[in-house]
Amino acid sequence: MSFDTKVFMEYVKAKNPGEKEFHQAVEEVFESLDMVLDKHPEYIEARIPERFVEPERVILFRVPWIDDKGKIQVNRGFRIEMNSAIGPYKGGLRFHPSVYLGILKFLAFEQVLKNSLTTLPMGGGKGGSDFDPKGKSDNEVMRFCQSFMTELQRHIGPDTDVPAGDIGVGGREIGFLFGQYKRLRNEFAGVLTGKGLNWGGSLIRPEATGYGQVYFANEMLQANGKSMEGLTCLVSGSGNVAQYATEKVLDLGGKVVTASDSSGMIYDAEGIDREKLAFIMDLKNVRRGRIKEYADKFPNVEYMAVDPKADCNPLWDIKADVALPAATQNEINGKDAANLVKSGVFCVSEGSNMPTTPEGVETFLGNKILYGPGKAANAGGVAVSGLEMSQNSMRLSWTREEVDQRLHGIMKNIHQNCIETAEKYGTPGNYVNGANIAGFLKVANSMLDQGCV
Ligand code: NDP
Repeated sequence: MSFDTKVFMEYVKAKNPGEKEFHQAVEEVFESLDMVLDKHPEYIEARIPERFVEPERVILFRVPWIDDKGKIQVNRGFRIEMNSAIGPYKGGLRFHPSVYLGILKFLAFEQVLKNSLTTLPMGGGKGGSDFDPKGKSDNEVMRFCQSFMTELQRHIGPDTDVPAGDIGVGGREIGFLFGQYKRLRNEFAGVLTGKGLNWGGSLIRPEATGYGQVYFANEMLQANGKSMEGLTCLVSGSGNVAQYATEKVLDLGGKVVTASDSSGMIYDAEGIDREKLAFIMDLKNVRRGRIKEYADKFPNVEYMAVDPKADCNPLWDIKADVALPAATQNEINGKDAANLVKSGVFCVSEGSNMPTTPEGVETFLGNKILYGPGKAANAGGVAVSGLEMSQNSMRLSWTREEVDQRLHGIMKNIHQNCIETAEKYGTPGNYVNGANIAGFLKVANSMLDQGCV
């Protein structure tokens, strides 16, 4: 019994029309799974591929809220409960105007494989809203979060589904969401991760995705006789993941020369040192301003506004050694990838989910770039979320060092698992195949064990 990815993709596209990000994520994974499915007819017989791409449950709901002028606003809320074969659904909430079913299904699908790679018992889910927190007052964000949770609370729980943050959902939003959950359910439970330290959060959770991304980069470098020390890095974004990726590069003796937001990018050839990083953190997390202010504040910094007509991103056209995308999906297209290779970048570790288009991935693999795909390289965030769940269940808190050590160990394991799996399936050094196959096998085997559900 053989598996035809092309025929399967026709089925996926016909069943999920208009969801192009979901198609892209599924296709990328099933291109790697070809070789597994051909060897294992039991997966095909059990219709594992078809079940894998069908969410166990999709929840879609109205989120009405009142703005500061007293006007009623209406947004759409979602929760995709994708796969619970190896644990409760787990995955972030994204608040961004671009959010629709296709984006959340791609993220939930990736999350299933990523969570499997962490070695922790977590299924996959994702959710969010087309609400745009930008330009909203704290009170407006709170009223939105309360309305969002008023519906979501009936679908989640510490043993059912445990959401966390993602784009547009940070500590402030998790606080408002948790407060409303507790008020409605009258229970103090580990139902969200990324919580504040005073009320059940884990040390290192805010840092985890960015730190993990850089740990993964360093593992790839070390496996090839190099290290982060003395290397120049390009980071995109300036939110949670970008900030802590920058911090970890500094810890490991490297230099970050870029940051960006959806309005533009800065290039600081001297490097973003700790003082400048503190400025970015205050700018983005407290004052909620634009990255352009960095160029106004510090000398010798170039600012480039986004050109919507451009066919590539100037951030990926700067001489460097390592690229650490940390903004959003499809932020590195084929031309950007070619520019990175041309300017000497030899290692790419993805903090954002699916930041590279299929053409870009082909360019990286064709040029033997050390390329760590998001589902492996950014798994540190959900891994520490899993550790937060464990601490909540035990009603205790581990120290910063303990959590960081566990995070580092998990990233090393993921790296090793990817390397070994890629090798076993005849594509040594291909982290894409390694991550897709290793993530899939654990979930698929659990689905086989659990029968037709
Ligand atoms: P934040 O909201 O904290 O930051 C996102 C950053 O990316 C901001 O600088 C934002 O700029 C920029 N950005 C967002 N959308 C776009 C866009 N369409 N074009 C250009 N820039 C954009 O989110 P996170 O740092 O949490 O998430 C970043 C990425 O990492 C996402 O892909 C997310 O899925 C992924 N990720 C996050 C994890 C986490 O633990 N937080 C875990 C694993 C992956 P602006 O402010 O102008 O919108």
